[in-house]
Amino acid sequence: DLYGPSRRNSAGVELGHRRSLEALLAEIAAGGTGAFMAMPVIDGQRLDGTSRMVVSPIDAATVAGAVIEADAAIADRAMAAASRGFAAWAATPARQRADTLRRAAERLEAERGRAIALLQVEGGKTLDDALAEVREATDFLRYYAAEAERLFGSAQTMPGPTGEDNRLSQRGRGVFVTISPWNFPLAIFVGQVSAALAAGNAVVAKPAEQTPLVAAFAVELLHAAGVPVSALHLVPGDGRIGARLVAHGAVAGVAFTGSTQTAQAINRALAARSGPIVPLIAETGGINAMIVDATALPEQVADDVVTSAFRSAGQRCSALRLLCVQADIAGRIVQLVAGAARELSIGDPREPATHVGPVIDIEAKARLERWIAAHMAAGRVVWQGEAPQAGHFVAPAIIALDRPEDLAEEVFGPVLHVVRWREDALDRLLQGIAANGYGLTLGIHSRIDDRIERIVARLAVGNVYVNRNMIGAVVGTQPFGGSGLSGTGPKAGGPHYLPRFAIEQTVATNT
Ligand code: GLU
Repeated sequence: DLYGPSRRNSAGVELGHRRSLEALLAEIAAGGTGAFMAMPVIDGQRLDGTSRMVVSPIDAATVAGAVIEADAAIADRAMAAASRGFAAWAATPARQRADTLRRAAERLEAERGRAIALLQVEGGKTLDDALAEVREATDFLRYYAAEAERLFGSAQTMPGPTGEDNRLSQRGRGVFVTISPWNFPLAIFVGQVSAALAAGNAVVAKPAEQTPLVAAFAVELLHAAGVPVSALHLVPGDGRIGARLVAHGAVAGVAFTGSTQTAQAINRALAARSGPIVPLIAETGGINAMIVDATALPEQVADDVVTSAFRSAGQRCSALRLLCVQADIAGRIVQLVAGAARELSIGDPREPATHVGPVIDIEAKARLERWIAAHMAAGRVVWQGEAPQAGHFVAPAIIALDRPEDLAEEVFGPVLHVVRWREDALDRLLQGIAANGYGLTLGIHSRIDDRIERIVARLAVGNVYVNRNMIGAVVGTQPFGGSGLSGTGPKAGGPHYLPRFAIEQTVATNT
């Protein structure tokens, strides 16, 4: 077993079981969010300044905590501190770095209640999403720890002629800037940071401006687990701070998850710098399709569509955006999907029975409602559910389109678009899907093996899900990430991720 005991993913909780649910709720209540405060942390020092409230997406009256954001000078200080901290962390044996990350995983499991409470109030996460996210973050810590040992533990001996010793080793690049999204404020934040640390880099982490509290919690936890304060620095702020970090002379690598536009802007900024060529690891969006043919099982399709399109309020980059159903069964499928979606309970995510929580903020809600209204006016909304008025809730909707090309942008919320295709026009459909330039996730529901193979071969998509839902990639099991407009690779939670955070060195010795 390549990954030893770390191959094990973190344990779940049976939420349908009353006793375990009650125990978890008690853990969350005990964890609480307190009056949580996020601020820049440089060399372990918490920097004071003017704070602003972090308002919960659940409703405007719920305050999640407060944040003190970094200014340009603080961002520069963080980069300088990380530069100083790099050498010692890079010289720390991989085994020791791995042990530190594993201790962080244990702590995170022990502090699960607090993590979930924060994810719910700051990120608007439902109980099952928040729990899954804590598990994913824990898995990243253990997986990258094991990977660090596998890849960085010792130099690899290369074949060569007698009398010569050839060794290949890897080490950290220097200061890695990590810029993470609000939709997985714990898992992706921890994933990027732990990968960069595992590979021996110092890190300056900039979380999404909507979710600094969860990030501050994670940094506190990593420091408490033994990550040197000189190797990990936190810089809360908006996009301008991210831009400042990326442009800094000390940056040796950037890991970014968020919009394609921002990834492109980072790429341009890195390219415009003088000095070393700095790599960008980007994981961005998708206009993800699911292709359903007439051999699929309608009830299962409906269930998987509802999960993939509407769970997490559609705020996953993996979420289903475009359902492509063979015309013969399209009417029935849409009817079943609407029927299943009607059963979703939408509301306060802290309520254990809630399936769908709010979208992240008022701008997201307004954007989604404009999108739905425009299609409503065009007579294309075939179904819409209901959502609470207060807070940032959006009623799920199904929109009928003519062709895949009609959906040219990523609609980041609980909105499902549907097109129909005919048997003789499958190639045309695949062409239309490929035309959007993204390549993140793809769902296929079919019982025809040849067809499945043909579709998989034809579409350059990072994660394909056959006869199941298409969200929730598991660390170490479904390495996650796309290509084209969806990202640069490598895949998070996969065996090729860490090397991209490292440089290689070959030493040839005449013996
Ligand atoms: N890894 C997540 C999933 O498989 C999506 C990550 C994201 O939304 O950025 O659903």
